[in-house]
Amino acid sequence: MTMIYENTLAFAKEMDAKDPLAKWRDEFHIPVVDGKEVNYFTGNSLGLQPKRAKHYIDTEIKEWANWGVEGHFKGRHPWKDYHEMFVEPISKIVGAQPKEVVVMNSLTVNLNLLLVSFYRPTTERYKIICEAKAFPSDQYALEMQVKCAGFNPDEAIIEVALREGEYTVRHEDIIEAIEQAGDSLALVMIGGVNYFTGQAFDMKSITEAGHKVGANVGFDLAHAVGNIKLELHDWDVDFACWCSYKYMNSGPGGVAGIYVNQKHCDNADLPRFAGWWGHEQETRFLMEKGFKPMKSAEAWQMSNAPVISMAVHKASVDIFAEVGMDALLEKQKLLSGYLEFIVDDINTQKGFENLKEKGLENITPRNWNERGCQVSIVANGYGRPLFDHLMQQGVIADWREPNVIRMAPVPLYNSFEDVYRFGEVLSEAL
Ligand SMILES: *Cc1c(COP(=O)(O)O)cnc(C)c1O
Repeated sequence: MTMIYENTLAFAKEMDAKDPLAKWRDEFHIPVVDGKEVNYFTGNSLGLQPKRAKHYIDTEIKEWANWGVEGHFKGRHPWKDYHEMFVEPISKIVGAQPKEVVVMNSLTVNLNLLLVSFYRPTTERYKIICEAKAFPSDQYALEMQVKCAGFNPDEAIIEVALREGEYTVRHEDIIEAIEQAGDSLALVMIGGVNYFTGQAFDMKSITEAGHKVGANVGFDLAHAVGNIKLELHDWDVDFACWCSYKYMNSGPGGVAGIYVNQKHCDNADLPRFAGWWGHEQETRFLMEKGFKPMKSAEAWQMSNAPVISMAVHKASVDIFAEVGMDALLEKQKLLSGYLEFIVDDINTQKGFENLKEKGLENITPRNWNERGCQVSIVANGYGRPLFDHLMQQGVIADWREPNVIRMAPVPLYNSFEDVYRFGEVLSEAL
């Protein structure tokens, strides 16, 4: 499908009028600055607040007031089982079997817990492959897990580098690195969607390649969950983790989630850190000696559920369940495609030809299968003042030194008019 776009307000308004998801914008609080709603493009960093979140929190706060400790067993959603309400909707969002997911903790904590189980190095097989410029938290987690296991991170961690002058990692370079590492490879651990460029990796074939050499394969889905189509179970991914405050709109530091492939859930002997909430349900409250893991991702749970944080998450997950990922993905393609078009059009209008010297260089893959919402632009020849101007004009985007602008028009609450207005402000600023 090729879409014919126009860089006019009338066109943007027409697209919004035709958009079946337009009404969902009303379900979110759009920040207001100087009496005007901002153009919010940082849903990849902190998603906006669903208006219903307050009601969901209030409900649990009231249950607590009414019941005290009995709230674990009574009330509308007994807290003892609160996390179970996420199993069905989250498994749909990430393409898992219900048993393979659980909502718990925060992202980097979960990554470390999963590495304890899935990075089990031996003297022959101890290497990890990750992408160059992985999110720093992931880099630190890998580095220290390698050290804790008694290996040297400089030797053990192989970063698949960018080629000279390129911004995105070549898929064939990842596969080649996996094949080359061969028997020495213990783990492939990659960000499913790169936070900087918005590049989405081919997780299916990376998983295949990793398994072929006998390694485990896991993904950090911080920028992927709620953003791209995921089929974790069918791709046979070993494990994955994500946070919920980016595209999932579940609030700052909100409760995160993990996926563990069924085949590992069934393996009670797998080494792991443990706590009472991962112990088999039937005997959990007998409080006896001897850890017996549940036969699901819940086995990795350690503590009882942070219900207030989960209430916000539930508000958001209910919206995702009502809208459905397929509808979101459809609009996402049109909307991010419109942003690409606007950027191209500005380059043409301004007569920018050599974009590497001056102009707006789009470094996000154009292919829909290789990205989600996010479009990252290098504003060559321009510096921080350009971004400051955008912010002054109510465009909330994300700036990375020296001159990268990351924008994520998200299908749940961004409009085509948002994208058009961004273009208008940007064009004026240039
Ligand atoms: C956002 C993000 C994080 C943040 O980790 P927290 O533990 O939630 O603070 C980690 N890794 C990646 C890839 C991210 O995008």
